[in-house]
Amino acid sequence: SDALDVARIREDFPILQREFDGEQLVYLDNGATSQTPDRVVDVIADYYRHSNANVHRGIHQLSQEASKAYEEAHDTVAEFVGAEGREEMVFTKNTTEAENLVAYAWGLNELGPGDEIVLTEMEHHASLVTWQQIGKRTGADVKYVPVTDEGYLDMDAAAEMITDDTEMVSVVHVSNTLGTVNPVSDLADLAHDHDAYIFVDGAQAVPNRPVDVKDIDADFYAFSAHKMAGPTGIGGLYGKQEILEEMEPFQYGGGMIRKVEFEDSTWHDLPWKFEPGTPLIAQGVGFAEAVEYLEDIGMTAIQRHEETLTEYALDRMAEFDDIEIYGPMDPTDRGGLVSFNLDSVHAHDLASIMNDHAVAIRAGDHCTQPLHDKLGVAASARASFYLYNTMDEIDALIDAIDSARELFA
Ligand code: PMP
Repeated sequence: SDALDVARIREDFPILQREFDGEQLVYLDNGATSQTPDRVVDVIADYYRHSNANVHRGIHQLSQEASKAYEEAHDTVAEFVGAEGREEMVFTKNTTEAENLVAYAWGLNELGPGDEIVLTEMEHHASLVTWQQIGKRTGADVKYVPVTDEGYLDMDAAAEMITDDTEMVSVVHVSNTLGTVNPVSDLADLAHDHDAYIFVDGAQAVPNRPVDVKDIDADFYAFSAHKMAGPTGIGGLYGKQEILEEMEPFQYGGGMIRKVEFEDSTWHDLPWKFEPGTPLIAQGVGFAEAVEYLEDIGMTAIQRHEETLTEYALDRMAEFDDIEIYGPMDPTDRGGLVSFNLDSVHAHDLASIMNDHAVAIRAGDHCTQPLHDKLGVAASARASFYLYNTMDEIDALIDAIDSARELFA
């Protein structure tokens, strides 16, 4: 069957066994950072114990080994999202750096007054602030596709807002606040109808569902390893090869050049042109292992599991009329997360009371302040699920909400 063997999977994550004041940890903050299975931790430790060296094809054996592992990690991650190969997969620090890379390397050079950047009201600050500021620096206008009361993008508005003046459409694939799965492929068609590029922020999509950048026809697509069973400090930027070839580098230095003279320099092949200096070698090796771990379990099974958990969480929360849930109510239109507020309790207090029960959730604006302004709240609580979470843990979440309600009654 397709169902995940969650009891078995949990054995891969010793951190889940932690207890706080005698209470078993219930980790529901996966949207912020997921936990890391033993085999990823082991591969990183093994790399440092047995294979550590600088890359860039040094002469000695260790350097050759490290170079091979690091280069092949690009192939593994590229294949995971349907990219053509390593030429289309740049390793960055995270999703945020991927946005900045394209904004600086492409945006600053290509945008000017009269050009338009189209974002959505549900963008994460990683994309919103980046393009907003690039707009200010270049004179390009920034427009926001509105979010409907039901938590979906207004696609009629998108069709009107994306015009021949549009140069870049940057859109979140799965909203980290509303959970909404956006029709990125339709948005790519709209962008391409007007010769604009589309950048998709896949930070909450790639960890949780099968993603194929070619099916979407994204020009750029970004994600972070630390949200997908991998290490911190590394992320992936997919870019269509012909676009990356044309683009200026983002940062300069060693490793990204072909020939340097006092007067000028030329650039190395993709993706190295975009990875100056000593790169994220151990993290890259860990990233590839995380991807293989997820592949072994199966992304479709992970998506189904999260859908089941999300449906159960939405059902249980709907029992109470003092809980306001944000985003689509159909669990199949959502990623595995639920943001909400309890009428009588501030989200921060709620998270703090949950913490007393060893239930880890997030409270705050989730890096979507303008969206929270639109929702009319300063903050919300967010429970986000992953492959190792269980129905029992959602019951623990609801019980913790009950105790908060009683405490503040
Ligand atoms: N976009 C979305 C939708 C996210 O959820 C996050 C992580 N909160 C980011 C971008 C930024 O990811 P990172 O902090 O790894 O750069």
